[in-house]
Amino acid sequence: MPHRQPDPTGTDPEPGEIPGIMPVPGVIPTGMSRVLLLNATFEPLAVVTAKRAVVLMLTGKAECVEATTGGVFHSENLTIPAPSVMRLSRYVRVPYRRSVPMTRAGVLRRDGRRCAYCGRRADTIDHVVPRSRGGAHTWDNCVAACKGCNSKKADRMLVELGWSLDVVPRPPSRTAGGVLVLAVEPLPAWEPWLGAAA
Ligand SMILES: [Zn+2]
Repeated sequence: MPHRQPDPTGTDPEPGEIPGIMPVPGVIPTGMSRVLLLNATFEPLAVVTAKRAVVLMLTGKAECVEATTGGVFHSENLTIPAPSVMRLSRYVRVPYRRSVPMTRAGVLRRDGRRCAYCGRRADTIDHVVPRSRGGAHTWDNCVAACKGCNSKKADRMLVELGWSLDVVPRPPSRTAGGVLVLAVEPLPAWEPWLGAAA
């Protein structure tokens, strides 16, 4: 067998393999089925399923930091609050990543879901230098934009519209484990833990 690095989030048995531990059907709201996993130092590390979170808790590898409201897991003689944020008991060294993969959700998160042009709520991303003009699909050429501004801008340059950017778009900081967190839409309960990742 090839040697594998221990992975605190990936090598545990599926919850079904632990007899007696079953989520109570319908108790955990759909939106709460993902759990933010923090390192022992409280840095965001990964997003795991609620089931895996319970396994991590049962095996003593992690503890609940914030429970969902009302969600619980039941076993024969145990009731565990379903976590929305949990923390590893032991620190895990995160391998260095030179670049953070760019995603639409990541750009929206970095820009606080505000349109870079008008400040309203943004649901799309815009290439500052349009792709048709050679603009790259990169962190420093993409900004959050509302649909209105996005379609108004179309394939034009800012200077042609007389628009400007207040902030220079940049790749997000790789501190605080932003790499993994940025790949998904965060839940409201995670926000206090994600501050440094934006
Ligand atoms: Zn806008």
